[in-house]
Amino acid sequence: MQNVKRAAGLLAMVLLLVGAGRWALAEDKLRVYTVNYPLAYFAERIAGDLATIVFPAPPGVDPAFWMPDEETIAAYQTADLILLNGADYATWTARVSLPRSRLVDTSRGFKAQYIQQPNMTTHSHGTSGQHSHGGTAFTTWLDLDQTAQQAEAIAQALSRKRPDAKVQIERNLEALRDDLLGLDARISEVARTEPGRPLLASHPVYQYLGRRYGLNLRSVMWEPEEMPSESQWTELKGILSEHPAKWMIWEDEPAEKTVERLRALGVQSFVFNPCANRPSAGDFLTVMAGNARSLNRIFGLVSGDQ
Ligand SMILES: [Zn+2]
Repeated sequence: MQNVKRAAGLLAMVLLLVGAGRWALAEDKLRVYTVNYPLAYFAERIAGDLATIVFPAPPGVDPAFWMPDEETIAAYQTADLILLNGADYATWTARVSLPRSRLVDTSRGFKAQYIQQPNMTTHSHGTSGQHSHGGTAFTTWLDLDQTAQQAEAIAQALSRKRPDAKVQIERNLEALRDDLLGLDARISEVARTEPGRPLLASHPVYQYLGRRYGLNLRSVMWEPEEMPSESQWTELKGILSEHPAKWMIWEDEPAEKTVERLRALGVQSFVFNPCANRPSAGDFLTVMAGNARSLNRIFGLVSGDQ
């Protein structure tokens, strides 16, 4: 009986210790907040179990122009790290007070290579209000070499917070970098088949993509879900007269009516999803692989035609 009691006491103590250990572990996890989905995906890959990664924007909004509510801002303020995209992305981060020491501007390393855009007219996407794409172009991660640099900045910030885990962090970064640079090489190879080929972009978000892969892009300001106005069609015809593109790339699947009318002008539609928000299926890499396939079809059709 005595033995049983002692064993039970011991067991209780062990359970208590295990419980405490687990609690300490959960407490130990870094809380990392990000301003877009690509940064969240990279942080998840690099941090593994070290951190809980939170990207709190609801699905369907464009995180570039999203404004979090007060409660969400408070959550950002208490995070261990806040990953920013830089390049004037998510301007709300400059308008609220965030702890400077925990901010990580992931694109600061290539700040000198930011693309500046002329002022453009304002417009709105869905419910996010009016915005303009003038100023600094911000879709930095569509140049996958730049993306790899952003991933590196995340790894450095995590290592500073958890120096003990540096080796694991570096290993995870290497695996991610291999994936990103593999895609980079694939897209480069496809785009090299005919570098000057005129292409249209439905929205001015492909500046870094165009520069990195040598795409000859001209952009309009259309929305996938909205039928362009007659003046927008007239503008497009003007562009086509000097930039005879046969393909338009879209952020998302465009409306069938728009696709048909474009086809009548000899222009086919392809999705190249910037993936700024969490995709409904797959992840950053599978979406980018799909984008690479879109480009493959565009350039593949070229060689098939001739
Ligand atoms: Zn826009």
